[in-house]
Amino acid sequence: MPNHLFDAMFAPRNDSAKVFLHHPDGSTLSHAEFAQIAARQASVMRNMGVAKGDRVALQVAKTPEALAVYAASIRIGAVLLPLNTAYTPEEVAYFVSDAEPKMLICDPRSQESLAEIAASVGASLMTLDADGNGILSSEAARTAPLDDVAECSAEDLAAILYTSGTTGRSKGAMLSHDNLLSNAQALTDLWRFTDADTLIHALPIFHTHGLFVAINVSLLSGTAIRFFPKFDLDAIIEALSGSTTLMGVPTFFTRLLADPRLTRERVSAMRLFVSGSAPLLAATHEEFEARTGHRILERYGMTETNMNASNPYEGERIAGTVGMPLPGVEIRITEPGSENELPRGETGMIEVRGPNVFKGYWRMPEKTAEELRADGFFLTGDLGLIDEKDYLHIVGRQKDLIIAGGYNIYPKEIEVLLDSMEGVQESAVIGVPHPDLGETVVAVVVPIAGAQIDPDSLLAGISERLARFKHPRRLVVVDSLPRNTMGKVQKNALREAYAGCLS
Ligand code: ATP
Ligand code: MG
Repeated sequence: MPNHLFDAMFAPRNDSAKVFLHHPDGSTLSHAEFAQIAARQASVMRNMGVAKGDRVALQVAKTPEALAVYAASIRIGAVLLPLNTAYTPEEVAYFVSDAEPKMLICDPRSQESLAEIAASVGASLMTLDADGNGILSSEAARTAPLDDVAECSAEDLAAILYTSGTTGRSKGAMLSHDNLLSNAQALTDLWRFTDADTLIHALPIFHTHGLFVAINVSLLSGTAIRFFPKFDLDAIIEALSGSTTLMGVPTFFTRLLADPRLTRERVSAMRLFVSGSAPLLAATHEEFEARTGHRILERYGMTETNMNASNPYEGERIAGTVGMPLPGVEIRITEPGSENELPRGETGMIEVRGPNVFKGYWRMPEKTAEELRADGFFLTGDLGLIDEKDYLHIVGRQKDLIIAGGYNIYPKEIEVLLDSMEGVQESAVIGVPHPDLGETVVAVVVPIAGAQIDPDSLLAGISERLARFKHPRRLVVVDSLPRNTMGKVQKNALREAYAGCLS
């Protein structure tokens, strides 16, 4: 029976002996072997009563078996619900009670603490450890592989993926079969992925970047994956010889640059480095090119929409921009709080429409209505502008916008200035409560290793280039910025930490 995503992405390689995953120890897994694991898991799920439309929640280490749960879920028409491995059992309990999965697959170490919550929603509890062993695998080993495939349309749900929770509580984004497939097809074409490629994969597989960008593109194109449980600098440096592509978050690139083993020779077989999930500093882009000869390709996306925009494969990759809308995707900039489209060059809300845009937030109809317009445009919550060359610039998140005495202050404008000052590695500018102005500006700055920063002279240095109302009232020097696993700066945490710093 036709299954929109399975037929296009998994089925074509079901019998292929070509390597799908290369493991750090040198062993490999072919597409056919992967398909077998998934088909057995699909049988287990079916036998446990998981039916079309049921959710399968997954909070486990990054293993081939964990990845196979994705294929198995799609095969039986279930909805995959991947969860960040950093969540505590208490946090998982929230997601489980919200999504009411029919099956919950967890690490054996959390089995005891999750038993009650699984039972409360009627979910079967399965385990899978960091070696791919556990109840799911032992059941699968003694079950015959499923031979049928559930019928699923383009509009059927494939996954509920929770957002990173950078600006508040994570929301479950409902993604259809075609949301995932259309985006994977667009990216495969745009970035020229083929079965001659080998991708270095060191991202987590519970987030859109590591799962739906990296894995879907690889499955669709037949790209082989060097599959790393996490970003291990030595292993990644090693893997650069003999691979062709890498997808990473900005911190991957700064960590690679800090290592003298990153050289032109080392990356001579590489054809493409992709960055996303958080802003890539222009300085990192430039330094990477100077060292390796490669211009990192930066792209922009989010849980709710998959990828929206990308710098070109051929053509100019401009540092500090995220390029043009993907084929089939429309991007417009509107005046926040209205539907009025703004002229080119003006900063406003980035809105996105296309086959990539999700079906709404799981069980949050009001939130969905607020952010998804009737005409299909999604309000991303990111502020940006489109320049005269049609490149999209992300200026920051609307929730990070500082409003001081009625004036809008875009933190990025101040961060870019600070970052260009001597001795500054990176910075984060936040708004903190102020009795008269409502909010005022505080800058948090990380010095380059070994550099001394004098807050007063740094402030004096940027002040002459900024209108007075934008001047930080305080500049704090710290060793590092708080980041989540995707390398996103946690401005909420900074706002909390420095809320009272002016009083
Ligand atoms: P939440 O929505 O729960 O607050 P989140 O928005 O961080 O969390 P994700 O969907 O993982 O959750 O991240 C999407 C966001 O990441 C985008 O809205 C954007 O702010 C940021 N982002 C992604 N790619 C880039 C990029 N290339 N440059 C700057 N920001 C980016
Ligand atoms: Mg978001």
